[in-house]
Amino acid sequence: MSGAILVLSGPSGAGKSTIIEHSSNQIGEYYFSISTTTREPRVGEEDGVDYYFVSKEEFEDGIRAGEFLEYAIVHGNYYGTSLKPVNEALSMGKLVVFDIDVQGHRLVRTKMGRLVTSAFITPPTLDELKKRLYARSTDAVEIIEKRIQNAKEEIKAIDEFDFVIINDTIEKASAQFTTIANAARLKLSEKELKKLIDDWENPPI
Ligand code: ADP
Ligand code: 5GP
Repeated sequence: MSGAILVLSGPSGAGKSTIIEHSSNQIGEYYFSISTTTREPRVGEEDGVDYYFVSKEEFEDGIRAGEFLEYAIVHGNYYGTSLKPVNEALSMGKLVVFDIDVQGHRLVRTKMGRLVTSAFITPPTLDELKKRLYARSTDAVEIIEKRIQNAKEEIKAIDEFDFVIINDTIEKASAQFTTIANAARLKLSEKELKKLIDDWENPPI
């Protein structure tokens, strides 16, 4: 039994972390892929929990060493997904949840094919996104404004995703996320499909 990948993308402030946390005891055993980034930690964020916070030089060493399944520059900082823990979790049959941007989604889909199920999460309107980013009050005004500009670009990639979750109320959005996560687990990998056909034609005695 191989695992599955669930990619969540959407503007910063869309509610991705909130939804994952709210649904965490309803989606079975999963591994949340902790990304590596060169951005500064926010107040309350912990190294090794929210992200691995590294310098630009360390990140670029990682790129050269081929450590990343994917990486991208988002809002002027590097963000990347380390390959090793993802492969380990997949080989244990786990659902691996990624919170990555739309560029990362494209790369992961190209590399991991059928293993990937994806959902784009957005607040109902751009205005509501602004309100939530300001209410979260974790970032300076110019950083928030950069995120809002970026959101207008990211939303254009919405048709590349399997599902869209409109995060109006957290209860409704989390229920939809739970359904998608549980369906992602049911997807068979290429290897499993091939075995199914082989066994279907020539059942093992
Ligand atoms: P992301 O992980 O996508 O950057 P967060 O989960 O940090 O977003 O959510 C951004 C802010 O919006 C947080 O302050 C969070 O509490 C709030 N939030 C999330 N979902 C909702 C919702 N459905 N209604 C109102 N506020 C929300
Ligand atoms: P934030 O700084 O708000 O935590 O994240 C900013 C953006 O970077 C979000 O859109 C988030 O999904 C994205 N992101 C976080 N980790 C990764 C990663 O490993 N790879 C890519 N491509 N994007 C990431």
